[in-house]
Amino acid sequence: MSALSELYQEITLCQQCEIAKFRTNVVPGEGAEGADILFIGEAPGWHEDQQGRPFVGPAGQYLDELLASINLKRGQVYIANVIKCRPTGNRDPLPVEIGNCRKWLEKQIELIRPMMIVTLGRYSMAMFFLGKSISKIHGTAQKRNNVIYYAMYHPAAALHQQSLRQVIEADMLKIPTLLTEAKSMTEAEVQPQQLKMFEV
Ligand code: URA
Repeated sequence: MSALSELYQEITLCQQCEIAKFRTNVVPGEGAEGADILFIGEAPGWHEDQQGRPFVGPAGQYLDELLASINLKRGQVYIANVIKCRPTGNRDPLPVEIGNCRKWLEKQIELIRPMMIVTLGRYSMAMFFLGKSISKIHGTAQKRNNVIYYAMYHPAAALHQQSLRQVIEADMLKIPTLLTEAKSMTEAEVQPQQLKMFEV
């Protein structure tokens, strides 16, 4: 069993938040374990909770289309969320839930060791781009410790707001170039502890 699968067994047992009582399934994440790119969304919705898989509802179908626009399938990247259980009533994640779940995302990053972390929406952006506003920094990248952090709008936002569609689609198209850049700069070994998140 891979270290990531072992981690997922551990996550499945987590009862730290109240919402754990109401979940149908934990949604740890899925994809290629050695993926170059890790996409991080917000939290599972109804469909994800039902299936135990990230981004399988309408926002997920759109994410699949966005990935196809850069010739990627979801099995070639890794997809996870800031929190692993569905917030009741589809509300936003609470700070306490984000805090409790943070260790799981940190371990995922240590094990996957992606060259590029793409944040989808404000909640994952806030973990890596402190105090920034998504309307200002979407489509921009920051290199830190050999990892490229790249902020995008959440696909669900673009589904609800037509004007964001072109923006999110254009931002997605920048990823291959950024990834090439990331590849050429990560020849030195990246230490797992370098990939720790920055304080929220
Ligand atoms: N939205 C998210 O942020 N994550 C999912 O897994 C599905 C929808």
